[in-house]
Amino acid sequence: MGKKEKASDPTCASCRVATSKRACVTPDGVGGNNCPTQEQAEALQAANAKYDDPKVMEFARQASLQEAACYANRHQRPYVLQPSKTRIQEIWEFAHRMGYTKLGLAFCLGLVNEAAKVEEIFKGKGLDVVSALCKAGATPKEMLGLSDEDKIRQGGFESVCNPVFQAELMNRAGTDLNVLLGLCVGHDSLFLSHAKAPTTVLAVKDRVTGHNPLAAIYLSDVYYAKLKMDDAGEEGEGS
Ligand code: SF4
Repeated sequence: MGKKEKASDPTCASCRVATSKRACVTPDGVGGNNCPTQEQAEALQAANAKYDDPKVMEFARQASLQEAACYANRHQRPYVLQPSKTRIQEIWEFAHRMGYTKLGLAFCLGLVNEAAKVEEIFKGKGLDVVSALCKAGATPKEMLGLSDEDKIRQGGFESVCNPVFQAELMNRAGTDLNVLLGLCVGHDSLFLSHAKAPTTVLAVKDRVTGHNPLAAIYLSDVYYAKLKMDDAGEEGEGS
């Protein structure tokens, strides 16, 4: 590749090298097509230079320590993965590691019961919890230029989901770490781009699968095969 030639965009999702033999997993490994491990040295150098910031370094270090702590009996040889911690435990332990005391919980109206339980759990671990529901502010959907037919329940008032307001509330409260619970696609993106504190996700919304979007992926060869068809009902390129 010439010096000024731009490297191909990475396509790791279609890498067909066995995971244990991949260049990104083992020093003697093999790269797939458009392998960023083998072709993007300059980008890697630029990315890794960002860890020179002590805050980034410490955040990444603690995240990596927490990752390892989620497996039991790591001293055993040969080691077989023994995952031992749920995601909510992973979150509160990471918060403790970082010395965080104030969590922001940004949640969806559809998960009010879950939010109350999550708040109780975090509080039980000694953390302060600031929480904001997506509809907080009761801003009418008309503010976004939407008409009545664009509402879910037509014929009356409907509040927008207002993730920018949720983020503003967290920013003003000075949260150390925000936790998303069930925000819609796009609303989560807005929250992430407006929140000042780092944000993690406890659960994403999937209205059909009980908030388990991977259920549709696991079943995409059979019951959800339609996901891989184009609009005309033909099997798409990826099937
Ligand atoms: S980094 Fe390279 S080896 Fe690893 S998944 Fe991507 S293409 Fe495959």
